Amino acid sequence: MSELTPILRQYHEIKSRHKDAILLFRLGDFYEMFYEDAELGARELELALTARHRGTPNETPMCGFPAKAADSYIQRLVKRGHRVAICEQLSDPKESRGPVDRDVVRIVTPGTATEDALLEPKANAFLASIYSTKKGYGAAFVDVSTGEFHVLEAREMQELLDAVAQFAPKEILYPEDSPCRLTLEGEDDPAYTPLPPDLFRLKDAERSMREQFEDPAALEASGVVKRPLAVQAAGALLSYLRRTQKRPLPHLREVHVLEGAAVVLDSTTQRNLEIFRNLQDGGTAGTLFSVLDRTETAMGGRLLRQWTVRPLAHKREIEARLDAVEEFLKKPTERGAFRERLERILDIERLTGRIAMSTANARDLAALRVSLEAVGPLRAMLAPFRSSLVETLRDALDPLEDVHALLGRALVDEPPVALREGGLIREGYDAGLDERRTLQRDAKKYLSDLEARERRATGIDTLRVGYNRVHGYYIEITKARAAKAPPHYERRQTLVNAERYITPELKEYEAKLLGAEDWSREREYELFCSLRAEAARHAERLLRTARALAALDALAALADAAHRFGYVRPRITEDSRLEVRAGRHPVVERIAARDGFVPNDLKLDNDSRQILLITGPNMGGKSTYLRQAALLVLMAQMGSFVAAQEAEVGLVDRVFTRVGASDNLARGQSTFMVEMSETANILRSATTRSLIVLDEVGRGTSTFDGVSLAWAIVEHLHETPGVAAKTLFATHYLELTELARVLPRVQNAHFTAKEWRDRVIFLRKVEPGAADRSYGIHVAQLAGLPESAVARAREVLRNLEEGAFLLDGSPALLQGEHRPAAARTEQPSLFQEVETDALEALRKANVEEMTPVEALAFLAKLRDGLPNRRKKG
Ligand code: ADP
Ligand code: MG
Repeated sequence: MSELTPILRQYHEIKSRHKDAILLFRLGDFYEMFYEDAELGARELELALTARHRGTPNETPMCGFPAKAADSYIQRLVKRGHRVAICEQLSDPKESRGPVDRDVVRIVTPGTATEDALLEPKANAFLASIYSTKKGYGAAFVDVSTGEFHVLEAREMQELLDAVAQFAPKEILYPEDSPCRLTLEGEDDPAYTPLPPDLFRLKDAERSMREQFEDPAALEASGVVKRPLAVQAAGALLSYLRRTQKRPLPHLREVHVLEGAAVVLDSTTQRNLEIFRNLQDGGTAGTLFSVLDRTETAMGGRLLRQWTVRPLAHKREIEARLDAVEEFLKKPTERGAFRERLERILDIERLTGRIAMSTANARDLAALRVSLEAVGPLRAMLAPFRSSLVETLRDALDPLEDVHALLGRALVDEPPVALREGGLIREGYDAGLDERRTLQRDAKKYLSDLEARERRATGIDTLRVGYNRVHGYYIEITKARAAKAPPHYERRQTLVNAERYITPELKEYEAKLLGAEDWSREREYELFCSLRAEAARHAERLLRTARALAALDALAALADAAHRFGYVRPRITEDSRLEVRAGRHPVVERIAARDGFVPNDLKLDNDSRQILLITGPNMGGKSTYLRQAALLVLMAQMGSFVAAQEAEVGLVDRVFTRVGASDNLARGQSTFMVEMSETANILRSATTRSLIVLDEVGRGTSTFDGVSLAWAIVEHLHETPGVAAKTLFATHYLELTELARVLPRVQNAHFTAKEWRDRVIFLRKVEPGAADRSYGIHVAQLAGLPESAVARAREVLRNLEEGAFLLDGSPALLQGEHRPAAARTEQPSLFQEVETDALEALRKANVEEMTPVEALAFLAKLRDGLPNRRKKG
């Protein structure tokens, strides 16, 4: 190691402090990676791996990329779950002897990215921190890019899992001595980052919180201080942010405690209802969010996403949103104008995040300026609105005229991306800058004046003033006339047929001019930084405005969806009734638009229609009907209008959906195991205010097991006090429909299929009562299964229903006239003979003359002659 060059020595020193990250080491215009980082980087980024000191014992693998293109490379590394430590040159290479000062200025991790390239515009990027003890759990969730900060203290693991499902963090922090790998379901696994346990100690965590929230009153008011586990998680998270971001985060000054204000959608429910991702390919097409998200801004999109995954639990809040949506719906002109103007608003929330963290560039400030311009007019457009939520939000819109005016004065119209090359600051903003610029602008004229003057003075009419990069400014005279150069001309350079000179005057001017350029560049950068710092001082106002805009955008978007898709305002009640007239599945109706969607009614309550068992043929529409019910409730409780002609929604506290294991082989666990553990969770957590959707639960095992489990689950939901939730249960086990006879709050409903011009037509209309026993055979017949096979199926079915086995123990399924010939001949003849003998004896028996004892003996003899297949008990 002693042989290392100073630069590599510096590298090793820095790397030793950042072992868990890929170190990007700034060398001039490049970021370089060395050793294992180089090998990893070359692989991940498809870069050529080279080496320094090749062939020596100090051979050092390296690869790199130009600093200009850094964003996209860093993005690729972070997207793949790596942490990237960015090491910059901190002193000017021109001014330092020895290696330039370098250090890591920031560590980009999956959960702390703030660059647009690393973020989805319409989705938050949360960083989570989790702390667990025997007493309970603490969790914190922060979106560094937007400044949102939530904490949770939970007794139950499930509560924690639900919160994690809701925020879908990109990265999860935990104390390294208590490995807390959550079994999360979801397409994107988060990155897990262990932290030193000290960071989670209450004392340290409290200090860390106080450092961030300079105003103790605000912290007190948030209620977080009364929740030590939440403080521990949050404090550790803030320490982590300080370590990785290495800069103040003034936009993170408001913390919000999560508690029972929302309906919980666990991750399975989110997936089964296809809220954000479809089940086919995990894409966003065909999802509830894709239908509802008609927002104009990224901020509005993110907020609507949060509303969708966190429907409200309280009537008052829901009604407030519904009032606002209704008003936007009833004022189509204002809505149209408002939404059109909103389009010009950029992501003020994330711009503010970058401004606060000093990572914003001049384009970001220009984007903020453009956005602020629209705030005043937007506010004015809302003047006619009377609903209290819109009024509150309107009053929260602050056009920040001071900040806007400052940006207007200071920043040019279209600033470049680079911050250190000038061209950022407007004329008239800074006197010193203006003076230098005048000097530069006047240089051309000055030099041509000088040329004219010198020509006159020397009488050399070919004398020329010029500039070259190496020698600077010069006066050039051809060789032929060089002799006439005045004595104060100092020779600078000799060419083949000309001499170049410099004069004291020109030298002085040159110094002034070149100095002015450097000075201006430096000055512009300084001015930009203080401009950014000034804007950062208003982070709180900016965020308040951004969030009000987001909410208005989301409300207007819901109104737009209601208008476009013909939704109605749901009636929200606090009793148990869920009643929908002509309800539609909001997503399927968009896709099925061509053939027309068949609306259906639904009625559930806790008194006589608690559990609805839905039967009917495959493809009949059962699953759609189930999901439709859940989606309409969610829509209503997020404050949206719903896809129905009329809807009354008794508030629910949770929505559970489970789908029988069938095609979820992609997941690691036994699918039936998953199905059952999910069902177990429902039976544990459901309350009488929950809505449960069970789709073919029990399918993942054998028929008898499946029926038995399904039966027991329905009984449990019906009979257990406190768990008796409203339930929709679609099943292909017709046996279950018998439950309606014995359990008073269980009702049957079914879907049917009919034949129409040689085609099977699914009516998709829900009807009361259980499905016809032979619907499957009926559908098979409609589908063109040969008549003989259909007739045979009916026979087998009848046999099945009459009892599983014959007297001789052979399966009753075999019996019937429609058996194919082959099946008949394969029939074991032994059984037939024994059976015939027994029947013969029975036929001949003179029962009328037997005493009871004789009859018993006869029966016993008959029985003993039969092969005994069925075991007793
Ligand atoms: P099941 O669960 O009974 O097998 P699905 O609910 O999966 O049936 O429905 C099958 C297909 O029928 C769906 O993909 C959908 O396209 C269509 N469908 C379902 N319900 C309706 C409806 N009410 N109106 C029109 N098409 C429907
Ligand atoms: Mg189905």
